Amino acid sequence: MSKPLTDQEKRKQISVRGLAGVENVSDLKTNFNRHLHFTLVKDRNVATKRDYYFALANTVRDHLVGRWIRTQQHYYEKDPKRVYYLSLEFYMGRTLQNTMVNLALENACDEATYQVKQTGQVRMKTFTQCLGVGLGLDMEELQDIEEDAGLGNGGLGRLAACFLDSMASLGLAAYGYGIRYEFGIFNQKIVSGWQVEEADDWLRYGNPWEKARPEYMRPVHFYGRVEHTPEGVKWVDTQVVLALPYDTPVPGYRNNIVNTMRLWSAKAPCDFNLKDFNVGGYIQAVLDRNLAENISRVLYPNDNFFEGKELRLKQEYFVVAATLQDIIRRFKASKFGSTEYVRLDLSTLPDKVAIQLNDTHPALAIPELMRILVDVEKLTWEKSWDIVVRTCAYTNHTVLPEALERWPVDLFQNLLPRHLEIIYEINRRHLERIAKLYPGDHDRLRRMSLIEEGNVKKINMAHLCIVGSHAVNGVARIHSEIIKDTVFKDFYDVDPQKFQNKTNGITPRRWLVMCNPGLAEVIAERIGEDYIRDLDQLKKLLKFVNDDAFIRDVAKVKQENKMKFAAHLEDHYKVKINPNSMFDVQVKRIHEYKRQLLNCLHIITLYNRIKREPNKSWTPRTIMIGGKAAPGYHTAKMIIKLITSIGDIVNNDPVVGDRLKVIFLENYRVTLAEKADLSEQISTAGTEASGTGNMKFMLNGALTIGTMDGANVEMAEEAGEENLFIFGMRVPDVEALDKKGYDAMSYYNRIPELKQAMDQISGGFFSPNQHDLFKDLVNMLMHHDRFKVFADYEAYIKCQEKVSALYKNPKEWTKMVIHNIAGCGKFSSDRTITQYAREIWGMEPSLEKIAAPDDIH
Ligand SMILES: *Cc1c(COP(=O)(O)O)cnc(C)c1O
Repeated sequence: MSKPLTDQEKRKQISVRGLAGVENVSDLKTNFNRHLHFTLVKDRNVATKRDYYFALANTVRDHLVGRWIRTQQHYYEKDPKRVYYLSLEFYMGRTLQNTMVNLALENACDEATYQVKQTGQVRMKTFTQCLGVGLGLDMEELQDIEEDAGLGNGGLGRLAACFLDSMASLGLAAYGYGIRYEFGIFNQKIVSGWQVEEADDWLRYGNPWEKARPEYMRPVHFYGRVEHTPEGVKWVDTQVVLALPYDTPVPGYRNNIVNTMRLWSAKAPCDFNLKDFNVGGYIQAVLDRNLAENISRVLYPNDNFFEGKELRLKQEYFVVAATLQDIIRRFKASKFGSTEYVRLDLSTLPDKVAIQLNDTHPALAIPELMRILVDVEKLTWEKSWDIVVRTCAYTNHTVLPEALERWPVDLFQNLLPRHLEIIYEINRRHLERIAKLYPGDHDRLRRMSLIEEGNVKKINMAHLCIVGSHAVNGVARIHSEIIKDTVFKDFYDVDPQKFQNKTNGITPRRWLVMCNPGLAEVIAERIGEDYIRDLDQLKKLLKFVNDDAFIRDVAKVKQENKMKFAAHLEDHYKVKINPNSMFDVQVKRIHEYKRQLLNCLHIITLYNRIKREPNKSWTPRTIMIGGKAAPGYHTAKMIIKLITSIGDIVNNDPVVGDRLKVIFLENYRVTLAEKADLSEQISTAGTEASGTGNMKFMLNGALTIGTMDGANVEMAEEAGEENLFIFGMRVPDVEALDKKGYDAMSYYNRIPELKQAMDQISGGFFSPNQHDLFKDLVNMLMHHDRFKVFADYEAYIKCQEKVSALYKNPKEWTKMVIHNIAGCGKFSSDRTITQYAREIWGMEPSLEKIAAPDDIH
């Protein structure tokens, strides 16, 4: 058998050659050496691998510069409507390879190879090999040196990153605005089966993709008090923190567009705390600059959970206040906005600016824009409110009550006193309207208020967002229906036209071309490469469902990916992996609602069955679970410990052998999708707003076992329900069970295999050194499980039996895979963004290229 191709070799094969022939290797080489010398200040004798990574990154980055400047000039000249995507998270991952894919640069390097010589004797085959000769380097090794930009927790942050790629690829004048956290999501270590967090010092060696713009620094005010004067309202005696912008280029896919992601970093002003200094005060004042600069220090590591800390509220206001100054400055400086009329009143802002709020995290944009319009620009309240509502739109990401932001009024009063006044006034007018619509309905007023009364008065940020936006969207069809029927029903009743759906998507550039070049090529061989920017074209693959050669090619790519991953796992975890086993994968944040515990019960059930009938021909499985637990989420951390403990028993049982392995994948950040056969999407129906991990797996040729939740519903619709493994309660079933009262014990008493598994967990079978280690988990599952794991146990196990049976028939399995890939088109974030643009932002996407600049000279 021939050696499997490396990813690098596979990418070379991709027929999408883009700019190949225009770029040339000698230029790339020259620039690489120039950066090594002038930027890194190293010669080949002392350069480290990291130096070579930075030299390569800078060489590739140079190709963005001309396009970036030209794109921004183009926007100034054309003055299109701008869209601002405000998010506390941008989970970007690595940038080098993505840039090369979008600029078609990898191929350019590869094409030009034959002419290049390293020493004058050897004719090099490729640029990368050229770098490698005598250095022991290859491209993948260099790419591995890049730190992830982990400025997000999970799906919400990764969605923002996919949207940036799609907005640039669709030629939209778009900006991502967020915070440049000095520390992103923590690095996860597993020590004796427990999660341990390490600080993510991702900027330690510098970030070649960002450009600081100190000339655009902006002040952000906190604390102080409000003065009502005849000239208007003044917010005075505030503390000022400066917001220093760092720009990162966002290249579109081969269209010469480069948009900007602008992330703010907190900087203390020069005179911070120096007002009345004395001899001892000066040193202390300089040391105290940290206090101000802590605002952008660290990402809060919670996914789907609200933690009402003052520092987090500061972060939320910081990004909003700095961004709105930027938006208004750009509006006023635009050709369109710089007329005297507009300068005076800003009433055309909604025609030129759309602001999209990624969840309620940047909700303060609403009162902050009101403050600017009313207090600074001196517009009337009514006029200002009209502008705000027509400019802002809000995306809801969850219905879990513990995730909804409800800030204590006291915190606001102290930190943002003027914003509190504005929110009260918004609420007064809002409730006045509701009271007119529903005379005497006091309970409705209470339910719809922006202010929740009670022990601690709280501001309901979702209510603020709905009232202050012209569009409110959920992120999958089922989720958008649920918010209209439940959490936001009262708001839907009064403003039904506001409520929309925008089913999430993922970018096929990163999540197929970049991470799975082998599959991308096999597809391109059949239907050409246009599908990369028009994913609906994957439908054309239906013609090949019964084509033996195509079936063989798809299965072969999957097998190669699995082999490579198995080798990596054996290296890393010292576990012997059977590459012919089914790779059964659940990677996502660890959360009760995502039900990793249901997966655990299946593993234990399989284990017990193998032990009971060791000679039966079991379909071998390698079950991989990965994901981070929020550091303060005790139950999630216990779930990790349970998974690793089950692995310790199962993986070391000689009776089981290589028919069942359980692996916890440490520090899940980036792609894993390409290696999986089976994707686990098993949340309780009604709890996962959309999911995007499910889409990544589908696009990469894994089959889904899942509940009718989030985007799974639409995946089944697109691929045909017969091509997914759907099981368990639907939303109405869950509601009915809630009504009746969920009684976990009844399932435990009725289902012997469930009872056996639970008894093993509670009896210390998986924790021989501490029998009661999992007593809290067991108690939760038996007595207060909000997510009804036992109620879906039987259906899940039966469904997994069907999965195992099908896996024994590789051809039928692969046919089902092809149906899934062919049905994937809807889940491109290009489709999602096109809908946002047309239905919320009033913008029209375009696949046109703009003129390419002459890059490097
Ligand atoms: C896509 C992605 C997620 C979201 O996965 P879900 O299964 O939808 O929860 C989380 N983390 C990372 C690193 C991702 O890339």
